[in-house]
Amino acid sequence: MKYHSFGNIRYKVSSLGFGAMNLPGVPFEQAKEALNYALDHGINYIDTAAGYRNSEEIIGNSISHRRDEFFLATKTNKRDYQSAKEEIERSLIRMKTDYIDLLQIHYVNYPHEIKQVMDEGGAYEAVMEMKREGKVRHVGITGHRPELLAKWISGGKFEQVLFHLNLAQPFALDELIPMADKLNMGRTAMKPLSGGFIQPIDKAIRYPYSQNIHTLISGMTSVDEVKENIAAMERDVDADEKAELEQLAREMGAHNCRRCNYCSCPLEIKIPDVMISSEATRALGLLPKGQSFFENHLEKMQACADYEPCKEKPLCEEKCPYHLPMQSVIQRSAMEYAQS
Ligand code: SF4
Ligand code: SF4
Repeated sequence: MKYHSFGNIRYKVSSLGFGAMNLPGVPFEQAKEALNYALDHGINYIDTAAGYRNSEEIIGNSISHRRDEFFLATKTNKRDYQSAKEEIERSLIRMKTDYIDLLQIHYVNYPHEIKQVMDEGGAYEAVMEMKREGKVRHVGITGHRPELLAKWISGGKFEQVLFHLNLAQPFALDELIPMADKLNMGRTAMKPLSGGFIQPIDKAIRYPYSQNIHTLISGMTSVDEVKENIAAMERDVDADEKAELEQLAREMGAHNCRRCNYCSCPLEIKIPDVMISSEATRALGLLPKGQSFFENHLEKMQACADYEPCKEKPLCEEKCPYHLPMQSVIQRSAMEYAQS
């Protein structure tokens, strides 16, 4: 396992971080074993969020007795002072700790949200107050609009930024990573598998691992998954492999979704999942996650073609800040899957 100085934050973070988002979906003993195995094998960065069901409690009940062995990052998606403060206090209790190493303002995607966070009476004020009290050590931000995040961090108010970076979503490389690098901020990448749609795990992990980041958090739920993730980082990525992965990312990410959640569909089609899995299928073939997703989602996707209100102008596309052709991707994917 490699370690990197975390920008201006005085800590050497492991290249692989433990994403604890999915732990609430597995038996407690399994989650506890996975977390402890990760610490025993060099992972020292644990990432969770107040919004990930009881993930914080699982961490508190599994590894709080080893608190000095890891850097603990959590998040609040509250935007105002009072509710952010209450939520962070609750995170401390749930994780059985006196301090949070990194508190990230979670999933900030709209200009009005950053304004609310940063204005007087906003969540940022609560985090700064808790920093003065020693309950929070550093402040970061997360979001799914990389070019906006690049702008928002440029004022130097945050010490770390968390962004998605994977073969289908290489967008942080354009402005966000260079800006965070220039400011010497902690750079945490997430979602290497983009929800499981990008496989094999080795390829999925090695692409972000080869980029200018400090740590990559990967969602893990068992000892076997921790082993698999660690194994993917055993070798360095050489120049040839890096070029090959970057070419694949250019193909897969040329026209893809940021998961910004601006769009929605009256038929409840999961548009971001269709967009990502469709690109993954075209580049890598139909993978198990894509197979089960298309199977369960096919009827809804097929209904898109007959949905009258979208015939003239697709409702979803009006909302997409990246002007993506979601309607045609959905209809094409439905057709291709039905014929396969
Ligand atoms: S075009 Fe299709 S996916 Fe988009 S809103 Fe209409 S029905 Fe939903
Ligand atoms: S399709 Fe566009 S609007 Fe919808 S989540 Fe993706 S990037 Fe955002």
